[in-house]
Amino acid sequence: MYYERVSKFLDKIEKEDTKIRAFIEIYYDDALAKAKELDKKVNEGKKLGKLAGKAIAIKNNIAIKGKLLSCASKMLENYIAPYNAHVIEKINAEDGIILGSTNLDEFACGSDTTNSAFFQTRNPLNIEYVPGGTSGGSAAAVAANFIDIALGSDTGGSIRCPASFCGVVGIKPTYGLVSRYGLSDTTMSLDQIGPITQSVNDAKLMLSVIAGKDERDQTTYRTQKMKLKYSGKPSIAIVKEFLDGADEQIIKNFHLLIEKLNIGGYNIKEVSIPTIKYAIPIYYLTVFAEFSSAMQKYDGLRYGKIDYILENINESVNELRGDKFGLEVKRRILLGTYITTQEYQKEWYGKTLSARAVLKKEIEFVLSKYDVLLGPTMSTLPWKIGEKSNPLEMYLADILTVPANLAGIPAGSVPFGKVGKFKPGIQILGNRFGEGKVFALMEEIEMLEVE
Ligand code: GLN
Repeated sequence: MYYERVSKFLDKIEKEDTKIRAFIEIYYDDALAKAKELDKKVNEGKKLGKLAGKAIAIKNNIAIKGKLLSCASKMLENYIAPYNAHVIEKINAEDGIILGSTNLDEFACGSDTTNSAFFQTRNPLNIEYVPGGTSGGSAAAVAANFIDIALGSDTGGSIRCPASFCGVVGIKPTYGLVSRYGLSDTTMSLDQIGPITQSVNDAKLMLSVIAGKDERDQTTYRTQKMKLKYSGKPSIAIVKEFLDGADEQIIKNFHLLIEKLNIGGYNIKEVSIPTIKYAIPIYYLTVFAEFSSAMQKYDGLRYGKIDYILENINESVNELRGDKFGLEVKRRILLGTYITTQEYQKEWYGKTLSARAVLKKEIEFVLSKYDVLLGPTMSTLPWKIGEKSNPLEMYLADILTVPANLAGIPAGSVPFGKVGKFKPGIQILGNRFGEGKVFALMEEIEMLEVE
């Protein structure tokens, strides 16, 4: 039975992914072999894992042993992962079936998956539009019904933005809840792996599998800290600044939701978190500094196939990095190197760290009084492919998603309502390890009828 199910998914991918281009690689043989193995287990009356038979896709910046780990970059075009990421070990142990790896913006830098060095992914809701980024391949694969569950990574919104643009569910967990072992890091202090799914229930299921302590990532915690169940009505704070500058259609859709929640008897108050207006510079300066350092290991020699070596090794590295990194990656490396040089470190990076602490405190203060914060996930609907080419414009699109990463708190996105073909995401942020309350409200919103 699993064999048939997986074959159907693979057929659909083969027929339709030529249009969407969600996948970088499809693991036909491995997926069918795993499905066969599960069928055998069933016939033998053996117990199956929590993810038995679920069709899964993995963002291609997460290591799967023996498979290409490209990060959608020419730098890693031929790099084969020598080990499994922690999350892959967990999925395998619970009998999930991995169907393939998905496209992303190069090294998870971007907001719409047009910045992959290989090809652009399209939005299944309307293929002239972007799927959001950087986990655009993962969200598109879920929205196109190619799979049940995908994993993405989220540094400043890369799970929630594509979930919102493709009309599916996504959650960035509390920092430290899911091990980053085997995730190609973008910004170590912000990155988290999380699920993108059709339903809130599947997101919960996947998170319960991948969360937990891992000795190989010392920022992780034991799962006891996370409470996935919550039965009650979380109190809600609407952050005024989340609506500043949002598109009219997004605001209208959000107000419709508030009306429904009011009728449902929720306690809702408006609050202000003033430092959110600086969230973009705080976020990007943090990213530039950590990203430039994370990229140092890619010298064009150590990972993947070596294209050429010049007589002078330094020149080789310069040339190879010049050839293989894309424009956005180079921009971030240069800016990051600049702001962390001794002369400017205090002025730029030091101030960024202080400002981040202020923002975190303000968010924590509001969350000490309310269970969750609520707002739209993105301030706009998806844009057309190629419409945004200016990097600053792209950075500004992240304004609503970066605060959760800067504060290390969980944030989920669940679709609500309909605007044309799109189903914009609603974002719910909770306290550290407050995933239970976030999921509770996501489930409530998922069930609301919209006429
Ligand atoms: N758009 C953000 C950036 O470019 C977020 C990326 C991410 O979450 N990986 O940094």
